[in-house]
Amino acid sequence: FPIIRAQFSPDFVPEAKFYKVEAILRPWRIQQVSKALLKMGIRGVTVSDVRGFGAQGGLTERQAGSEFSEDNFVAKVKMEIVVSKDQVEGVIAKIIEEARTGEIGDGKIFLTPIADVIRVRTGERGEKAERMMGGHADMTSTASLST
Ligand code: ATP
Ligand code: GLN
Repeated sequence: FPIIRAQFSPDFVPEAKFYKVEAILRPWRIQQVSKALLKMGIRGVTVSDVRGFGAQGGLTERQAGSEFSEDNFVAKVKMEIVVSKDQVEGVIAKIIEEARTGEIGDGKIFLTPIADVIRVRTGERGEKAERMMGGHADMTSTASLST
């Protein structure tokens, strides 16, 4: 039964209305990134201070000469942005544009499908919960411009 089995395969990615864009970036670029996201109507963002290593850690690691030393972790900021499917590519392009230096350690972006969005204050779900006052939807709707 290949259709049922597909859901348990690591290749299976469910279609979703919303996606989480998770970007691990250089801390000193965050202000520039959030400013640009705000300008394009993104109103909901969560940030956390994190530490990690990728290729950059590997480089430090060789310099330090100790393979698993905790000293190799580099301070990063994780930005999590849940957006509707049609905003995903725009958000990713903007993050790259604002966060990229071209040097090792610029970071990485992960994309995850999100099953639902629920606003605690109102109990609204789905598009109603994801849509922000003065957000992307308001900025792109001609209706709000003509009224
Ligand atoms: P309300 O209209 O009740 O103010 P809201 O939808 O504007 O609700 P907040 O209560 O302001 O949401 O959001 C609380 C926190 O949730 C934010 O500080 C942010 O960390 C996170 N958040 C909200 N929306 C998103 C989103 N779309 N993506 C990522 N994080 C979000
Ligand atoms: N899509 C929402 C809007 O148009 C914004 C989502 C977000 O800010 N993460 O208002």
